[in-house]
Amino acid sequence: MKANNEIFSVPVVLADRFFMSEKALAEIVAMGGFAWADVRDHQELAERLGRSASVRVIVSEYIKINLQVLEQAPGLKGVIAYGAGYDHIEVDSLASRGVVVCNCRGENAQAVAELTFGLMLCLLRRINRADRWVRENGWPKTGRNLPEWVMGNELQGKTLGIIGLGQIGSRVARIARGFDMKILVYDPFAQPAANASPKMETPPLEELLSSADIVTLHVPLTSETKRMINARALAMMKPKALLINTSRGKVIDEPVLLETLKQNRIRGAALDVFADEPISGDHPFSRLENVVLAPHMGALTQEAGERLSDAVVRQIRDILNGRSPECLIE
Ligand code: NAD
Repeated sequence: MKANNEIFSVPVVLADRFFMSEKALAEIVAMGGFAWADVRDHQELAERLGRSASVRVIVSEYIKINLQVLEQAPGLKGVIAYGAGYDHIEVDSLASRGVVVCNCRGENAQAVAELTFGLMLCLLRRINRADRWVRENGWPKTGRNLPEWVMGNELQGKTLGIIGLGQIGSRVARIARGFDMKILVYDPFAQPAANASPKMETPPLEELLSSADIVTLHVPLTSETKRMINARALAMMKPKALLINTSRGKVIDEPVLLETLKQNRIRGAALDVFADEPISGDHPFSRLENVVLAPHMGALTQEAGERLSDAVVRQIRDILNGRSPECLIE
C-alpha cells in the first residue's frame, strides 16, 4: 500500500513502524489517507508535523506523544496507542486540551500470554541452550551421555504467581490451568469476576512472591509499578524461583536483578522488555546462562497484528466521526 508521504495533508499519521495489514491501510486511505512518519522520537515528529492543520489522528507504538507534538498538529482530535501499553502518551495533558487517547487493549493479549509460556519452557527445559549446543556439535557421536543441564523441570504442579490480572494476566491464568499449575494472583484493581475461579488464590504480594515457583509480570508501567520488583521483592522470592517479564522493563530494578541472577539468588529470569531498549549483544544480562532474552516481541504474531490493525481502523473511524473510541483511556 502506497502511503502519502506528504505528512501535512493527511488526516492520519502513523508515528513509528508497526505492522498494519494491507486491508487496514486501504480502509484508512478511504477515510482520507495516511503517512508513515517513521521518526526516531517525538522531537523529530514535532518537526515533521510543522503545524499541520490536517492531521486529526496520530497512531504511536513507542514514540512519545505530548503537548510539544500537539502544538505542531493543532487539528489533532485523537491519539491511538498501538498495543496495550500507553506509558509513552501523556494522557492527562492531551485530555486537558480536548484530545482523546485510546489503546488497543486485548488485541495482542493472547500473543503475549503464549510467549510467556514459551519463555517459561525455555527456562525450565533450556531449549535455547540445547539448540545452540546441538548446532555447535556438542552432542556426542557415541554414547547417550548428555550434560547435566539438559535435566529440566515441569510446569505441572508448580505455583505460578501472576502480578496484574488484566487482558494478558487472565489469559496466562487460563493457559496455566491447562498445565495443571496452582495459580496465585496479585491485582488490587482487578474486577472481582476476573478473580472468580476455584483454582486461583489472591494472597498479598509478599506471600505471592515468597510462595511462587514462577512469578510473571503483567502490569502497566505506572508510578506505582515502577521498580515494583526491587531488592526487597527479589529477596522474598524462593532461591529456585523464576521471574518472567513481558510487561515493561522499568517494572524491575534491573541492576538489582542482575546482581541477584549473578549470585544465583533466584534460579533464572526471562525478559522480553528492558528499561532502555534496544539492549546490545554485550549487555550484562547476555553473559548469564540463567537468563533468556527476547527483543520486545511479546505482541508480534501475525494474528495479533491483524487484530491490532482492525482495532486501529475502527478507532480512527470513531475519532474522525466525533464518536468516543471503543478503548478510550480515561
Ligand atoms: P491490562 O490493562 O488489561 O491489565 C493490566 C492489569 O494490571 C490490570 O488488571 C490492573 O488492575 C493491574 N494493575 C495495575 N496496577 C497494578 C499494581 N500496582 N499491582 C498489581 N496489578 C496492577 O493490560 P494488558 O493488556 O494485560 O497488558 C499489561 C501490560 O503488558 C501493558 O501495560 C504493557 O505494558 C505490557 N505489554 C507488553 C507487550 C510486549 O510486547 N511484551 C505487549 C502488550 C502489552
